[in-house]
Amino acid sequence: MKIIHSVEEMKSSTHATRRGRRSIGFVPTMGALHEGHRALIRRARRENDQVVVSIFVNPAQFGPREDFTQYPRALSKDLALLKQEKCDVVFIPSASQIYPPEFSTWVDVPACSASLCGKFRPGHFRGVATVVAALFQIVQPTRAYFGLKDYQQCRVIDRMVKDLQIPVRVVACPTVREPDGLACSSRNRRLSKRDREEAVKLYQALYLGRELIEQKIMLDSGRLETRLKQVLSQIPHCRIDYIAVVDPVTLAPMRKIRRPAVLAAALWIGKTRLIDNVVIS
Ligand code: AMP
Repeated sequence: MKIIHSVEEMKSSTHATRRGRRSIGFVPTMGALHEGHRALIRRARRENDQVVVSIFVNPAQFGPREDFTQYPRALSKDLALLKQEKCDVVFIPSASQIYPPEFSTWVDVPACSASLCGKFRPGHFRGVATVVAALFQIVQPTRAYFGLKDYQQCRVIDRMVKDLQIPVRVVACPTVREPDGLACSSRNRRLSKRDREEAVKLYQALYLGRELIEQKIMLDSGRLETRLKQVLSQIPHCRIDYIAVVDPVTLAPMRKIRRPAVLAAALWIGKTRLIDNVVIS
């Protein structure tokens, strides 16, 4: 497994792979790897000749009062996992390589960035789209793998790739969950034991919401959201950013619920922000 820190070296490695007509599967991450990342890497491994994983905690997607400095970092464990999964190249650029002082170009996808997390994290998706566009230029992947746990992020990347005619196939992968149902997330490790136990209520609320929709018991999103907020408010130290039913493509809120739909939520447990969603097809 090759570890590359320099953008130039990453580009020449890419160039050699592409010249040999070998496909590149790319998994961009912020590290602190878990089973969700592992599933993406395994799929990339199955579908491509070479697997490139990036680890970059992207400062541009964190707001000034967000957890950039506290974001979990676990490089040696990450490298062990990547070795185990037979990753070929780990790309670990520094922030100054991605954002040199003269850096001045931003990718904005307003159509998908306004609702849900975009409302609560202004500039977040602009930071995500910009870094993913830059990483795509550097790695030039054949396929790039993203998790549906970050549903809105998948939509933003999809739109960007289509609009900018970026020659990469975006592969959206199902959410991997802990045995109790909580979606795997790097931020889960910041939860206390007690909060971790309570966090499963996020999934339970989404699961209940899906049942109520599928069985046509509650098809008015206002009523459904009120009902699910009652479940979430049982979590101690909990603050809800949103729980909403949206159109899977436009992400526009749905008043009268039609299928397909996405039920998505974001909440804070103490100082940790968790997101999750279920797709109702
Ligand atoms: P992150 O390191 O959190 O930026 O995530 C890197 C990639 O892994 C993103 O495409 C995420 O959507 C994906 N991912 C994170 N958690 C999960 C999960 N529980 N299941 C599937 N994919 C995930």
